[in-house]
Amino acid sequence: MSNLLRILRQRIAHQGPLTVADYMAEALGHPEHGYYMKSDPFGAGGDFTTAPEISQMFGELIGIWCAVSWQQMDAPEKFNLVEIGPGRGTLMADILRAGGNLPGFINAMDLYLVETSPVLQGLQEKTLADAPVQSSWKQYFTEIPEGPLILVANELFDALPVRQFESTANGWVERLINFDDADTLVWRQGSENPATASFIPGPLKDEPAGSLYEMSSAGLSLMASIGNAIASHGGTALIIDYGHSETTCGDTLQAVKNHQFYDFLADPGDADLTAHVDFQALKETAEQAGAAAFGPVTQGDYLRRLGIEPRAQQLESVATSRQKEDVREALERLTSADEMGTLFKVLAVAHPDQPRPEGFT
Ligand code: SAH
Repeated sequence: MSNLLRILRQRIAHQGPLTVADYMAEALGHPEHGYYMKSDPFGAGGDFTTAPEISQMFGELIGIWCAVSWQQMDAPEKFNLVEIGPGRGTLMADILRAGGNLPGFINAMDLYLVETSPVLQGLQEKTLADAPVQSSWKQYFTEIPEGPLILVANELFDALPVRQFESTANGWVERLINFDDADTLVWRQGSENPATASFIPGPLKDEPAGSLYEMSSAGLSLMASIGNAIASHGGTALIIDYGHSETTCGDTLQAVKNHQFYDFLADPGDADLTAHVDFQALKETAEQAGAAAFGPVTQGDYLRRLGIEPRAQQLESVATSRQKEDVREALERLTSADEMGTLFKVLAVAHPDQPRPEGFT
């Protein structure tokens, strides 16, 4: 039995079955044994590949978007550029290189990376060693000093814990995780409890038995903090992730290991665990905090509107034939509907007095 399974077993013995959110929080974020805490999960040798790791075009276009956002904020002399969950630091390196073409942008920024994993912070330090501005690392977004904000988060919200609720003939119950007699983790239905129904949005309350609803308190509370910061001090945030535009029912829990789907309950700490992002809920939360929200638009549309096609042609014009193939392939992966182009969505949040962010019609 792994160390983390032992810890979970002890916790369940003391407190009873875990919520899905408790399980995800431990499996991903346990300080010693959590998935993100101990290893580098990215790339061909890891478990999954993210957009910035596919091609520099992704981060360059976002870098230009950030620089244009700074202009749209009337180019404040000081602002915070923040990335939450920066992975290997690749996206930020590309943002700084491309954004650096706009005079004044780099000099105006204080750069903050919000990262919970010491291993990934180490990788980020290496990637950004030659960056034109020094980074400061924080564990929580709320530790960042107040001020105008430009914030980016790619594939962060899918990693934040969700609770899962199931509609039954007798009402909504929470899905829980327990140990069976053979010390294997198993699914279990929580008991009927009228309070559970209060978590379910009105339009979904009457969904048929067997329907599942997922809710990320951690995601919504982070979004509320970002929305509040923007409403108070000005700024823009760009949230990119896989998920749905509208709040809906469905089981989107997913475990991935070595680029393959995996059993959600097998090997906690050794597989990436995620859930699809509920963009409608994020959007409403940002608006309730006093910010304006735009989208979500699909990643394919967003990148095309920002000019990924001309950028690909430009790269191809100076490339060898092998490199040309790589550029074409990356363009396809990032934008086409049957790859990342449609499932991945982009939400922007901005101060209500600022112009509409680029890429959002
Ligand atoms: N944005 C990167 C990495 C995505 S993976 C990319 O696109 O390649 C998720 C990242 O979020 C990892 O860096 C992980 O360590 C970090 N992370 C997970 N939970 C977090 C939390 N609660 N706060 C900050 N970072 C978190």
